[in-house]
Amino acid sequence: MKNEITLRANAKINLFLDITGRREDGYHTITGIMQAISLHDTVTVAVTEPTDGMHLCTLGPRGGQAEEIVLTCSNPDIPTDNRNLAWRAAERFFSATSYGCRRLTIHIEKRIPAAAGLAGGSTNAAATLVALNNLYGSPLTQEELCGVGLTLGADVPFCIQGGTRLTEGVGELLTPVSRMPDCDLVIACGGEGVSTPAAYKALDERYGGFARTAYTPRAEELTRLRSALESEDLTAVGGSLFNLFESVILPERPVAADIKETFLACGAMAALMSGSGPSVFGVFPKDEGSAQRAREALTARGIPAWVCEPVG
Ligand code: ATP
Repeated sequence: MKNEITLRANAKINLFLDITGRREDGYHTITGIMQAISLHDTVTVAVTEPTDGMHLCTLGPRGGQAEEIVLTCSNPDIPTDNRNLAWRAAERFFSATSYGCRRLTIHIEKRIPAAAGLAGGSTNAAATLVALNNLYGSPLTQEELCGVGLTLGADVPFCIQGGTRLTEGVGELLTPVSRMPDCDLVIACGGEGVSTPAAYKALDERYGGFARTAYTPRAEELTRLRSALESEDLTAVGGSLFNLFESVILPERPVAADIKETFLACGAMAALMSGSGPSVFGVFPKDEGSAQRAREALTARGIPAWVCEPVG
């Protein structure tokens, strides 16, 4: 039986991100379109020393947990204990299935910048869940896996499914939409990470806690973006991108605002902050290298940037 698996954990960007309200439990409901991108971490999950000496999976007294978890990560700034979302994902997988093992190792080769609005932690959790489910012979359906993922974070179900999806609810209601037309994307991230809860707090202050009369969601703009995706019109897609977080984060983050301007000056069809920021992506036509030139313009100024593309 196979006991090790390595998966790509793709980052995501938000092509559209709007807030539709706030639930009584304090969670914001959103509407948006998420896109998986080829910028990725690599997650290797290995289950060693089967508990009963014969099978990886054991039900019974030792079931429901890994007796030992060892997590390593190439980025020393990321926690390697139970604060890491991949670690927590493994624990949730074992308790949801009642399977167990003596020793679980997880190695994360990090490329996605942390706290950048690119779902770096969520995608590692998603890859860990998918890897374990695969190693244990698919005890959970994808729907069940997404249910476990949602207990870890709102973006985890999307990271399990990938592609281009309409996102509603608190992020758990996912509907496939037409894929993003072929293009180059440049992702750049400068300055300190943004705390997602702090970004939501700033939005609440700005938009009256999203009381019904205080903010009107941009439903028409979302419809326009969906039509642009359906008609595979990259220019119209670029013209319909929207992220409400920009209104509170960009004024506080001159580097992010500067990256946006640099992208547009280098020939981007559009540029937008992703998630709660501060990373910004530029949409470039697949041409004679304007995406590479934009990346070089930023890296020459010490701002990390990557060229990648949407993945379906
Ligand atoms: P999202 O877009 O889902 O809001 P994000 O990209 O803004 O997320 P993350 O990269 O997930 O943010 O990082 C947020 C925090 O989570 C960081 O402070 C980091 O220490 C912690 N964290 C826990 N596990 C991981 C992981 N596997 N990879 C990256 N960060 C992690």
